[in-house]
Amino acid sequence: MTAGCRFAILDGANQSGAKVIAKCPHCERGMSSIKVEAIQIKAGKSSWNGVAYCCPSCDCALSVMIDQISLKDDVVAEVLQGLGREQ
Ligand SMILES: [Zn+2]
Repeated sequence: MTAGCRFAILDGANQSGAKVIAKCPHCERGMSSIKVEAIQIKAGKSSWNGVAYCCPSCDCALSVMIDQISLKDDVVAEVLQGLGREQ
């Protein structure tokens, strides 16, 4: 789920030094940082730990994805369990 991003190019539009500031598509304020929230992603009977990237000003969710660190830990635990070893 991606709400889409718009960028404002300040101080010129070159790739080597242009200052780029992301703008929230909901409140249109500039973002120099982003807020990350834990979220459960559900698809049918499956569920994964996920992260939502949110605007720090209005909390609008800009993107959601599976939590890569949690996914890695889950895979390692399942492999060890499959090998008969517990973590
Ligand atoms: Zn916003």
